[in-house]
Amino acid sequence: MLEQSNELAAWDRDHFFHPSTHMGTHARGESPARVMAGGEGVTVWDNTGRKSIDAFAGLYCVNVGYGRQKISDAIAEQAKNLAYYHAYVGHGTEASITLAKMIVDRAPEGMSRVYFGLSGSDANETNIKLIWYYNNVLGRPEKKKIISRWRGYHGSGVMTGSLTGLDLFHNAFDLPRAPILHTEAPYYFRRADRSQSEEQFSQYCADRLEEMILAEGPDTVAAFIGEPILGTGGIVPPPAGYWEKIQGVLRKYDVLLVADEVVTGFGRLGTMFGSDHYGIKPDLITIAKGLTSAYAPLSGVIVSDKLGSLGHGWTYSAHPICVAAGVANLELIDEMDLVTNAGETGAYFRAELARAVGGHRHVGEVRGDGMLAAVEFVKDRDDRVFFDPALKVGPQIATALAASGVLGRAMPQGDILGFAPPLCLTREEADTVVAKTADAVNSVFAGL
Ligand code: PMP
Repeated sequence: MLEQSNELAAWDRDHFFHPSTHMGTHARGESPARVMAGGEGVTVWDNTGRKSIDAFAGLYCVNVGYGRQKISDAIAEQAKNLAYYHAYVGHGTEASITLAKMIVDRAPEGMSRVYFGLSGSDANETNIKLIWYYNNVLGRPEKKKIISRWRGYHGSGVMTGSLTGLDLFHNAFDLPRAPILHTEAPYYFRRADRSQSEEQFSQYCADRLEEMILAEGPDTVAAFIGEPILGTGGIVPPPAGYWEKIQGVLRKYDVLLVADEVVTGFGRLGTMFGSDHYGIKPDLITIAKGLTSAYAPLSGVIVSDKLGSLGHGWTYSAHPICVAAGVANLELIDEMDLVTNAGETGAYFRAELARAVGGHRHVGEVRGDGMLAAVEFVKDRDDRVFFDPALKVGPQIATALAASGVLGRAMPQGDILGFAPPLCLTREEADTVVAKTADAVNSVFAGL
């Protein structure tokens, strides 16, 4: 057994290219290097049997929790009957058609069709092509620029990596900057002018956007893309009035709105979509993660009545096994009433987290919405001074928390500990996550 696991560790080091992993650190045995083996509800375990509460639902994706037989049965059944057929030139399966209908039924008003893909990144690539094609059809070939936001996350492909507003995802890769632009992040806690109220800061963001559109020329700006709540950029809810003011600007200059709901789609904010939660009326919606709870890779673009079809697709668009997983997953979300639980238990979890660590002198803010929460650490809370990133305060706290059996996530930019538990989290499980977080925070700061 020991020999076997040594062999596995050697194969891992020599042959497996881990995403988002410093391979040198990993080879020196300084990364967690866990070989995951099973899961049930909010709990996962590795091949040594060590259990953890997964308070990040994988990568904010296992919304229904682990080990749901209804979904694995649907996958097995589809694999037995017809593992694959393409969806080109009018083909489909019962599951692909049913899932498209289920998604449109749940989507905000005005949405009519779903274009399936495999990842959030490829769905955003589809969005870009749809937007460009739309303006070509309308005879305005110069209207092509897409405005994203600093700290937005929209994927890691060539174009979608450019959309992402986090330097580490595009610096050093020579990704195309044009025709993509980035505007102000709606990050109230980090606003430059601390005298601004939330409403004033929202107005400031809308003014920056309008300035950018005017400087570029409204005839050249095609679309704006944003997550309803910033996710990977720090789990940051929009300041009051933000979406209303932004949409006012977009309407004025005939700019399409893409709501990237890869994280927020299918219940995470306590509503089926984040757009419903914040009063967003998008032309296109990106979905992935919660669509299948990651039991199989599946993404999509929900397209409004306004936009047409195009000659574009992937071999695996509407892959039968993945859409079968999607149908079972959406049924399960309804059967378990998970959207309600995300709102109610999510609010309880955030309130308890704020109670437990919000008063700590190095906690600048506890924030979130629905079943999303974050704790941002600062050197000095009164003057809002941040720690030197080299100290890796956020990662140290996430590591201490993981050692105690709870998996959160050190968000990539800033000392921010993020939580995005499965939507089935109970109050008792939330209490455990909160207690262990308080211990991790206290122990790391005691040692600093
Ligand atoms: N959009 C958002 C909002 C995301 O959070 C992510 C992934 N975290 C993506 C797009 C990209 O999805 P994928 O990693 O499946 O390509």
